[in-house]
Amino acid sequence: MPHTPAPEEMNVYQNAEARFEVAATKLGLEQGIYRYLKYPDKEITLYIPVGMDNGQLEVFTGYRVLHSTVRGPGKGGIRFAPDVSIDEVRALSAWMTWKCAVVDIPFGGAKGGIICDPRKMSRSELERLTRRYTAERDVPAPDVGTNEQTMAWVMDTYSMHARQATTAVVTGKPIELGGSRGRREATGRGVMICVDKALAKLGMKKETTRVIIQGFGNVGSLAADLMQKAGYKIIGLADIGGGLYNEKGFDVPKVIDWVYKQKKQLQDFPGGGSKMSSRDVLFQPCDVLIPAAIENQITEQNAHQVQCKILCEGANGPTTWQADAIIDAKGVFTVPDILGNAGGVTVSYFEWVQDRQGFFWRESEVNERLLDVMERSFDEVVRYAETHKVNNRIAAYMLAIDRVATALKLRGIYA
Ligand code: NAD
Repeated sequence: MPHTPAPEEMNVYQNAEARFEVAATKLGLEQGIYRYLKYPDKEITLYIPVGMDNGQLEVFTGYRVLHSTVRGPGKGGIRFAPDVSIDEVRALSAWMTWKCAVVDIPFGGAKGGIICDPRKMSRSELERLTRRYTAERDVPAPDVGTNEQTMAWVMDTYSMHARQATTAVVTGKPIELGGSRGRREATGRGVMICVDKALAKLGMKKETTRVIIQGFGNVGSLAADLMQKAGYKIIGLADIGGGLYNEKGFDVPKVIDWVYKQKKQLQDFPGGGSKMSSRDVLFQPCDVLIPAAIENQITEQNAHQVQCKILCEGANGPTTWQADAIIDAKGVFTVPDILGNAGGVTVSYFEWVQDRQGFFWRESEVNERLLDVMERSFDEVVRYAETHKVNNRIAAYMLAIDRVATALKLRGIYA
Protein backbone atom coordinates (compact mmCIF):
# COMPACT_ATOMS: atom_id res chain seq x y z
CA MET A 1 0.00 0.00 0.00
CA PRO A 2 1.48 3.41 -0.86
CA HIS A 3 2.56 5.24 2.25
CA THR A 4 1.54 8.88 2.56
CA PRO A 5 4.38 11.03 3.91
CA ALA A 6 3.70 12.82 7.21
CA PRO A 7 2.41 16.38 6.64
CA GLU A 8 5.52 17.89 8.26
CA GLU A 9 7.75 16.11 5.71
CA MET A 10 5.82 17.83 2.91
CA ASN A 11 6.02 21.27 4.50
CA VAL A 12 8.82 23.01 2.61
CA TYR A 13 9.28 25.59 5.32
CA GLN A 14 10.00 22.85 7.85
CA ASN A 15 12.38 21.31 5.31
CA ALA A 16 14.24 24.60 4.91
CA GLU A 17 14.30 25.13 8.69
CA ALA A 18 15.62 21.64 9.44
CA ARG A 19 18.70 22.20 7.25
CA PHE A 20 19.17 25.72 8.68
CA GLU A 21 19.12 24.28 12.23
CA VAL A 22 21.75 21.63 11.44
CA ALA A 23 24.03 24.08 9.63
CA ALA A 24 23.64 26.81 12.30
CA THR A 25 24.43 24.32 15.07
CA LYS A 26 27.51 23.00 13.26
CA LEU A 27 28.67 26.59 12.72
CA GLY A 28 28.15 27.34 16.43
CA LEU A 29 26.15 30.43 15.42
CA GLU A 30 25.62 32.72 18.40
CA GLN A 31 22.04 32.88 19.70
CA GLY A 32 21.23 36.47 18.67
CA ILE A 33 22.46 36.03 15.09
CA TYR A 34 20.71 32.66 14.92
CA ARG A 35 17.37 34.26 15.88
CA TYR A 36 17.92 37.15 13.46
CA LEU A 37 18.56 34.85 10.49
CA LYS A 38 15.91 32.28 11.36
CA TYR A 39 12.98 34.67 10.87
CA PRO A 40 12.13 36.73 7.77
CA ASP A 41 12.37 40.54 7.90
CA LYS A 42 8.81 40.96 6.71
CA GLU A 43 5.78 39.03 5.42
CA ILE A 44 2.83 40.55 3.60
CA THR A 45 -0.50 39.01 2.59
CA LEU A 46 -2.33 40.70 -0.26
CA TYR A 47 -5.91 40.38 -1.42
CA ILE A 48 -5.76 41.32 -5.08
CA PRO A 49 -8.98 42.34 -6.85
CA VAL A 50 -9.09 41.46 -10.55
CA GLY A 51 -11.91 42.06 -13.02
CA MET A 52 -12.32 38.76 -14.89
CA ASP A 53 -13.22 38.43 -18.58
CA ASN A 54 -16.77 37.30 -17.65
CA GLY A 55 -17.41 40.60 -15.87
CA GLN A 56 -17.11 39.12 -12.34
CA LEU A 57 -14.74 40.59 -9.79
CA GLU A 58 -12.42 37.96 -8.31
CA VAL A 59 -10.12 38.44 -5.31
CA PHE A 60 -6.85 36.50 -5.34
CA THR A 61 -4.62 35.92 -2.31
CA GLY A 62 -0.94 36.67 -2.74
CA TYR A 63 2.13 36.82 -0.53
CA ARG A 64 5.45 38.60 -0.53
CA VAL A 65 8.10 37.54 1.97
CA LEU A 66 11.31 39.49 2.41
CA HIS A 67 13.68 37.16 4.22
CA SER A 68 16.88 39.20 4.33
CA THR A 69 18.47 42.39 3.01
CA VAL A 70 21.70 41.93 4.94
CA ARG A 71 23.87 41.41 1.82
CA GLY A 72 21.83 43.52 -0.63
CA PRO A 73 18.28 44.11 -1.90
CA GLY A 74 15.82 41.23 -1.57
CA LYS A 75 15.77 39.10 -4.72
CA GLY A 76 13.34 36.35 -5.62
CA GLY A 77 10.78 35.24 -8.17
CA ILE A 78 7.01 35.43 -8.29
CA ARG A 79 5.18 32.10 -8.46
CA PHE A 80 1.63 31.74 -9.87
CA ALA A 81 0.20 28.36 -8.78
CA PRO A 82 -2.98 26.98 -7.17
CA ASP A 83 -1.11 25.51 -4.18
CA VAL A 84 0.96 28.56 -3.19
CA SER A 85 1.01 28.97 0.61
CA ILE A 86 2.67 31.35 3.04
CA ASP A 87 4.94 28.54 4.26
CA GLU A 88 6.07 27.81 0.70
CA VAL A 89 6.84 31.49 0.00
CA ARG A 90 8.63 31.73 3.37
CA ALA A 91 10.84 28.74 2.52
CA LEU A 92 11.54 29.97 -1.00
CA SER A 93 12.52 33.43 0.28
CA ALA A 94 14.97 31.96 2.83
CA TRP A 95 16.44 29.74 0.10
CA MET A 96 17.00 32.88 -2.01
CA THR A 97 19.05 34.41 0.83
CA TRP A 98 21.23 31.30 1.12
CA LYS A 99 21.47 30.83 -2.67
CA CYS A 100 22.69 34.39 -3.29
CA ALA A 101 25.23 33.94 -0.49
CA VAL A 102 26.46 30.56 -1.84
CA VAL A 103 27.27 32.12 -5.22
CA ASP A 104 28.40 35.31 -3.47
CA ILE A 105 26.27 37.86 -5.31
CA PRO A 106 25.16 41.04 -3.51
CA PHE A 107 21.48 40.23 -2.99
CA GLY A 108 19.32 39.24 -0.05
CA GLY A 109 16.35 36.88 -0.29
CA ALA A 110 12.67 37.42 -1.10
CA LYS A 111 9.86 35.59 -2.85
CA GLY A 112 6.30 36.23 -3.96
CA GLY A 113 3.41 33.99 -4.83
CA ILE A 114 -0.23 34.28 -5.87
CA ILE A 115 -2.78 31.51 -5.42
CA CYS A 116 -4.17 31.14 -8.94
CA ASP A 117 -4.10 28.71 -11.84
CA PRO A 118 -2.41 30.50 -14.75
CA ARG A 119 -3.42 27.69 -17.14
CA LYS A 120 -7.08 28.50 -16.53
CA MET A 121 -6.74 32.27 -16.92
CA SER A 122 -6.69 34.36 -20.07
CA ARG A 123 -3.70 36.48 -21.03
CA SER A 124 -5.56 39.69 -20.14
CA GLU A 125 -6.65 38.32 -16.75
CA LEU A 126 -3.01 37.41 -16.02
CA GLU A 127 -1.92 40.86 -17.11
CA ARG A 128 -4.41 42.57 -14.77
CA LEU A 129 -3.43 40.28 -11.88
CA THR A 130 0.28 40.96 -12.43
CA ARG A 131 -0.16 44.72 -12.70
CA ARG A 132 -2.29 44.98 -9.58
CA TYR A 133 0.22 42.86 -7.62
CA THR A 134 3.11 45.03 -8.87
CA ALA A 135 1.31 48.24 -7.98
CA GLU A 136 1.14 46.96 -4.41
CA ARG A 137 4.59 45.41 -4.01
CA ASP A 138 8.27 45.26 -4.80
CA VAL A 139 9.71 43.50 -7.83
CA PRO A 140 11.38 40.17 -8.65
CA ALA A 141 11.95 37.52 -11.44
CA PRO A 142 10.07 34.60 -13.02
CA ASP A 143 9.30 31.32 -11.26
CA VAL A 144 6.74 28.53 -11.76
CA GLY A 145 3.79 29.84 -13.76
CA THR A 146 5.36 33.20 -14.69
CA ASN A 147 7.60 34.12 -17.62
CA GLU A 148 9.27 36.94 -19.60
CA GLN A 149 5.89 38.42 -20.52
CA THR A 150 4.85 38.59 -16.85
CA MET A 151 8.11 40.40 -16.06
CA ALA A 152 7.49 42.87 -18.91
CA TRP A 153 4.11 43.75 -17.32
CA VAL A 154 5.83 44.18 -13.94
CA MET A 155 8.42 46.49 -15.50
CA ASP A 156 5.76 48.54 -17.31
CA THR A 157 3.51 48.89 -14.26
CA TYR A 158 6.40 49.98 -12.04
CA SER A 159 7.68 52.38 -14.72
CA MET A 160 4.25 53.99 -15.13
CA HIS A 161 4.17 54.72 -11.39
CA ALA A 162 7.79 55.96 -11.43
CA ARG A 163 6.98 58.11 -14.52
CA GLN A 164 10.09 56.83 -16.30
CA ALA A 165 11.23 53.55 -17.84
CA THR A 166 12.83 51.67 -14.92
CA THR A 167 14.29 48.41 -16.14
CA ALA A 168 16.47 47.36 -13.18
CA VAL A 169 13.50 46.75 -10.87
CA VAL A 170 12.78 43.32 -12.30
CA THR A 171 14.85 40.60 -13.98
CA GLY A 172 13.99 37.82 -16.40
CA LYS A 173 12.60 40.45 -18.81
CA PRO A 174 12.51 40.05 -22.60
CA ILE A 175 15.83 41.13 -24.17
CA GLU A 176 13.99 43.94 -25.99
CA LEU A 177 13.13 45.50 -22.60
CA GLY A 178 16.49 45.36 -20.85
CA GLY A 179 16.67 41.59 -20.31
CA SER A 180 20.03 39.87 -20.38
CA ARG A 181 21.24 37.62 -23.12
CA GLY A 182 21.58 34.11 -21.70
CA ARG A 183 19.03 34.62 -18.86
CA ARG A 184 16.49 32.22 -20.37
CA GLU A 185 19.00 29.36 -20.40
CA ALA A 186 20.85 30.44 -17.25
CA THR A 187 19.34 28.06 -14.71
CA GLY A 188 19.63 25.06 -17.04
CA ARG A 189 23.18 26.07 -17.94
CA GLY A 190 24.07 26.39 -14.25
CA VAL A 191 22.69 22.88 -13.66
CA MET A 192 24.87 21.56 -16.49
CA ILE A 193 27.99 23.31 -15.16
CA CYS A 194 27.44 21.68 -11.74
CA VAL A 195 26.97 18.27 -13.35
CA ASP A 196 30.15 18.79 -15.45
CA LYS A 197 32.05 19.57 -12.25
CA ALA A 198 30.58 16.58 -10.40
CA LEU A 199 31.54 14.31 -13.30
CA ALA A 200 35.12 15.58 -13.22
CA LYS A 201 35.22 15.00 -9.47
CA LEU A 202 33.98 11.42 -9.82
CA GLY A 203 36.15 10.66 -12.87
CA MET A 204 33.15 10.07 -15.18
CA LYS A 205 32.78 10.89 -18.90
CA LYS A 206 29.89 12.81 -20.51
CA GLU A 207 29.61 10.45 -23.45
CA THR A 208 28.72 7.52 -21.18
CA THR A 209 26.57 9.51 -18.76
CA ARG A 210 22.83 8.86 -18.80
CA VAL A 211 20.59 11.65 -17.51
CA ILE A 212 16.99 11.78 -16.27
CA ILE A 213 15.22 15.12 -15.92
CA GLN A 214 11.86 15.65 -14.22
CA GLY A 215 10.23 18.94 -15.26
CA PHE A 216 10.23 20.22 -18.83
CA GLY A 217 9.75 23.94 -18.26
CA ASN A 218 12.30 26.72 -18.22
CA VAL A 219 14.84 24.81 -16.16
CA GLY A 220 14.26 21.21 -17.28
CA SER A 221 13.83 21.66 -21.04
CA LEU A 222 16.82 23.99 -21.37
CA ALA A 223 19.04 21.81 -19.17
CA ALA A 224 18.05 18.82 -21.36
CA ASP A 225 18.81 20.71 -24.57
CA LEU A 226 22.15 22.12 -23.44
CA MET A 227 23.26 18.82 -21.92
CA GLN A 228 22.42 16.79 -25.00
CA LYS A 229 24.30 19.26 -27.19
CA ALA A 230 27.27 18.90 -24.81
CA GLY A 231 27.30 15.10 -25.25
CA TYR A 232 25.12 13.73 -22.44
CA LYS A 233 22.50 11.08 -23.18
CA ILE A 234 19.04 12.14 -21.97
CA ILE A 235 17.12 8.94 -21.21
CA GLY A 236 14.22 10.12 -19.06
CA LEU A 237 11.92 13.16 -19.25
CA ALA A 238 8.75 14.13 -17.42
CA ASP A 239 6.33 16.97 -16.90
CA ILE A 240 3.06 17.37 -15.03
CA GLY A 241 1.28 15.12 -17.55
CA GLY A 242 3.60 12.12 -17.03
CA GLY A 243 7.00 10.70 -17.86
CA LEU A 244 8.87 8.84 -20.59
CA TYR A 245 11.92 6.60 -20.24
CA ASN A 246 13.98 5.54 -23.23
CA GLU A 247 17.38 3.91 -22.72
CA LYS A 248 18.33 4.79 -26.31
CA GLY A 249 18.05 8.50 -25.49
CA PHE A 250 15.77 11.29 -26.71
CA ASP A 251 16.29 13.78 -29.49
CA VAL A 252 15.67 16.75 -27.20
CA PRO A 253 15.11 19.49 -29.84
CA LYS A 254 12.38 17.27 -31.33
CA VAL A 255 10.76 16.87 -27.91
CA ILE A 256 10.90 20.66 -27.41
CA ASP A 257 9.28 21.17 -30.80
CA TRP A 258 6.60 18.57 -29.93
CA VAL A 259 5.74 20.19 -26.59
CA TYR A 260 6.25 23.88 -27.30
CA LYS A 261 5.53 24.33 -31.03
CA GLN A 262 3.05 21.56 -31.65
CA LYS A 263 1.54 21.93 -28.14
CA LYS A 264 1.31 18.17 -27.66
CA GLN A 265 1.65 16.13 -24.47
CA LEU A 266 5.25 15.27 -23.62
CA GLN A 267 4.19 11.72 -22.78
CA ASP A 268 2.75 11.22 -26.28
CA PHE A 269 6.09 12.06 -27.96
CA PRO A 270 6.44 9.50 -30.76
CA GLY A 271 10.20 8.95 -30.28
CA GLY A 272 9.82 5.70 -28.35
CA GLY A 273 10.26 4.78 -24.72
CA SER A 274 8.03 3.54 -21.91
CA LYS A 275 5.31 5.72 -20.45
CA MET A 276 5.20 6.06 -16.70
CA SER A 277 4.14 8.52 -14.04
CA SER A 278 6.16 11.67 -13.64
CA ARG A 279 7.27 10.48 -10.20
CA ASP A 280 8.37 7.02 -11.39
CA VAL A 281 10.81 8.50 -13.91
CA LEU A 282 12.89 9.57 -10.91
CA PHE A 283 13.50 5.96 -9.92
CA GLN A 284 14.75 4.55 -13.23
CA PRO A 285 18.43 3.60 -13.57
CA CYS A 286 20.65 6.54 -14.63
CA ASP A 287 23.92 8.27 -13.77
CA VAL A 288 22.58 11.78 -13.22
CA LEU A 289 19.16 12.62 -11.82
CA ILE A 290 17.86 16.18 -12.18
CA PRO A 291 14.57 16.97 -10.44
CA ALA A 292 13.59 20.28 -12.10
CA ALA A 293 9.84 20.48 -11.51
CA ILE A 294 8.50 21.08 -8.02
CA GLU A 295 9.26 20.39 -4.38
CA ASN A 296 8.89 17.20 -2.27
CA GLN A 297 9.51 14.66 -5.03
CA ILE A 298 12.14 12.54 -3.26
CA THR A 299 10.88 11.64 0.20
CA GLU A 300 11.64 9.29 3.08
CA GLN A 301 9.26 6.77 1.47
CA ASN A 302 10.81 6.63 -1.98
CA ALA A 303 14.45 7.79 -1.60
CA HIS A 304 15.66 4.19 -1.44
CA GLN A 305 14.41 3.72 -5.04
CA VAL A 306 16.72 6.40 -6.45
CA GLN A 307 19.33 4.81 -8.75
CA CYS A 308 21.80 7.54 -9.69
CA LYS A 309 25.39 8.49 -8.93
CA ILE A 310 24.79 12.25 -9.04
CA LEU A 311 21.68 14.10 -7.87
CA CYS A 312 21.66 17.69 -9.13
CA GLU A 313 18.65 19.70 -7.96
CA GLY A 314 17.25 22.10 -10.55
CA ALA A 315 14.00 22.66 -8.63
CA ASN A 316 13.81 24.28 -5.23
CA GLY A 317 13.28 21.75 -2.46
CA PRO A 318 12.75 18.56 -4.52
CA THR A 319 14.24 16.41 -1.74
CA THR A 320 12.78 16.41 1.76
CA TRP A 321 15.18 16.61 4.69
CA GLN A 322 14.13 13.14 5.85
CA ALA A 323 15.31 11.79 2.47
CA ASP A 324 18.77 13.39 2.75
CA ALA A 325 20.19 10.67 5.00
CA ILE A 326 18.92 7.89 2.74
CA ILE A 327 20.45 9.52 -0.34
CA ASP A 328 23.73 10.07 1.53
CA ALA A 329 23.82 6.45 2.72
CA LYS A 330 23.56 5.32 -0.91
CA GLY A 331 26.74 7.29 -1.67
CA VAL A 332 24.99 9.62 -4.12
CA PHE A 333 26.92 12.83 -4.86
CA THR A 334 24.37 15.62 -4.26
CA VAL A 335 24.42 19.12 -5.70
CA PRO A 336 21.84 20.86 -3.49
CA ASP A 337 19.26 23.27 -4.92
CA ILE A 338 20.83 26.41 -3.46
CA LEU A 339 23.89 25.66 -5.59
CA GLY A 340 22.44 23.60 -8.47
CA ASN A 341 19.82 26.12 -9.60
CA ALA A 342 21.75 29.29 -8.69
CA GLY A 343 22.61 29.98 -12.36
CA GLY A 344 19.25 31.76 -12.74
CA VAL A 345 19.76 34.30 -9.99
CA THR A 346 23.37 34.75 -11.04
CA VAL A 347 22.36 35.91 -14.53
CA SER A 348 19.51 37.91 -12.96
CA TYR A 349 22.26 39.69 -11.06
CA PHE A 350 24.09 40.26 -14.38
CA GLU A 351 20.85 41.62 -15.85
CA TRP A 352 20.49 44.05 -12.93
CA VAL A 353 24.12 45.18 -13.37
CA GLN A 354 23.63 45.68 -17.15
CA ASP A 355 20.36 47.63 -16.64
CA ARG A 356 22.03 49.91 -14.11
CA GLN A 357 25.02 50.42 -16.43
CA GLY A 358 22.83 50.80 -19.50
CA PHE A 359 25.41 48.64 -21.26
CA PHE A 360 24.64 45.13 -22.45
CA TRP A 361 27.04 42.21 -22.72
CA ARG A 362 27.50 39.64 -25.47
CA GLU A 363 25.92 36.25 -24.78
CA SER A 364 29.37 34.64 -24.69
CA GLU A 365 30.41 37.17 -22.04
CA VAL A 366 27.35 36.36 -19.91
CA ASN A 367 28.00 32.62 -20.22
CA GLU A 368 31.68 32.99 -19.41
CA ARG A 369 30.94 34.98 -16.26
CA LEU A 370 28.27 32.46 -15.27
CA LEU A 371 30.77 29.63 -15.70
CA ASP A 372 33.24 31.44 -13.42
CA VAL A 373 30.65 31.98 -10.68
CA MET A 374 29.25 28.44 -10.81
CA GLU A 375 32.64 26.70 -10.93
CA ARG A 376 34.01 28.76 -8.07
CA SER A 377 30.87 28.20 -5.97
CA PHE A 378 30.89 24.45 -6.66
CA ASP A 379 34.54 24.22 -5.59
CA GLU A 380 33.89 26.25 -2.45
CA VAL A 381 30.94 24.08 -1.38
CA VAL A 382 32.78 20.80 -2.01
CA ARG A 383 35.89 22.04 -0.22
CA TYR A 384 33.76 23.20 2.71
CA ALA A 385 32.08 19.77 2.87
CA GLU A 386 35.43 18.00 2.90
CA THR A 387 36.95 20.31 5.50
CA HIS A 388 33.96 20.18 7.85
CA LYS A 389 33.08 16.53 7.15
CA VAL A 390 29.46 17.30 6.25
CA ASN A 391 27.46 16.55 3.11
CA ASN A 392 27.33 19.07 0.25
CA ARG A 393 23.90 20.35 1.25
CA ILE A 394 24.84 21.18 4.82
CA ALA A 395 28.14 22.61 3.53
CA ALA A 396 26.26 24.96 1.18
CA TYR A 397 24.01 26.12 4.03
CA MET A 398 26.99 26.59 6.38
CA LEU A 399 28.92 28.59 3.79
CA ALA A 400 25.88 30.77 3.09
CA ILE A 401 24.88 31.33 6.72
CA ASP A 402 28.48 32.16 7.59
CA ARG A 403 28.63 34.78 4.81
CA VAL A 404 25.32 36.39 5.83
CA ALA A 405 26.27 36.30 9.55
CA THR A 406 29.62 37.95 8.78
CA ALA A 407 27.91 40.73 6.81
CA LEU A 408 25.38 41.18 9.62
CA LYS A 409 28.10 41.51 12.25
CA LEU A 410 29.98 44.04 10.10
CA ARG A 411 26.83 46.13 9.62
CA GLY A 412 25.72 45.85 13.26
CA ILE A 413 22.09 45.96 14.37
CA TYR A 414 20.29 49.28 13.78
CA ALA A 415 17.81 49.50 16.61
P1 NAD B 1 8.10 26.08 -15.28
O1 NAD B 1 6.74 26.47 -14.86
O2 NAD B 1 8.72 26.68 -16.49
O3 NAD B 1 8.15 24.47 -15.49
C1 NAD B 1 7.77 23.56 -14.51
C2 NAD B 1 7.77 22.16 -15.11
O4 NAD B 1 7.48 21.22 -14.08
C3 NAD B 1 6.74 21.94 -16.21
O5 NAD B 1 7.26 21.08 -17.20
C4 NAD B 1 5.59 21.24 -15.47
O6 NAD B 1 4.80 20.43 -16.31
C5 NAD B 1 6.37 20.41 -14.50
N1 NAD B 1 5.59 20.02 -13.32
C6 NAD B 1 4.77 20.80 -12.58
N2 NAD B 1 4.18 20.07 -11.62
C7 NAD B 1 4.67 18.82 -11.75
C8 NAD B 1 4.45 17.61 -11.07
N3 NAD B 1 3.58 17.52 -10.06
N4 NAD B 1 5.13 16.51 -11.48
C9 NAD B 1 6.00 16.58 -12.51
N5 NAD B 1 6.23 17.68 -13.21
C10 NAD B 1 5.58 18.79 -12.83
O7 NAD B 1 9.03 26.30 -13.99
P2 NAD B 1 10.61 26.47 -13.94
O8 NAD B 1 10.92 27.92 -13.99
O9 NAD B 1 11.25 25.51 -14.89
O10 NAD B 1 10.89 26.01 -12.43
C11 NAD B 1 11.02 24.65 -12.07
C12 NAD B 1 11.68 24.58 -10.69
O11 NAD B 1 12.95 25.23 -10.73
C13 NAD B 1 10.90 25.27 -9.57
O12 NAD B 1 11.16 24.58 -8.36
C14 NAD B 1 11.56 26.65 -9.51
O13 NAD B 1 11.40 27.27 -8.24
C15 NAD B 1 13.00 26.26 -9.75
N6 NAD B 1 13.86 27.34 -10.24
C16 NAD B 1 13.57 28.03 -11.39
C17 NAD B 1 14.46 29.01 -11.83
C18 NAD B 1 14.24 29.75 -13.12
O14 NAD B 1 15.12 30.52 -13.51
N7 NAD B 1 13.15 29.55 -13.82
C19 NAD B 1 15.59 29.33 -11.07
C20 NAD B 1 15.85 28.61 -9.91
C21 NAD B 1 14.98 27.62 -9.51
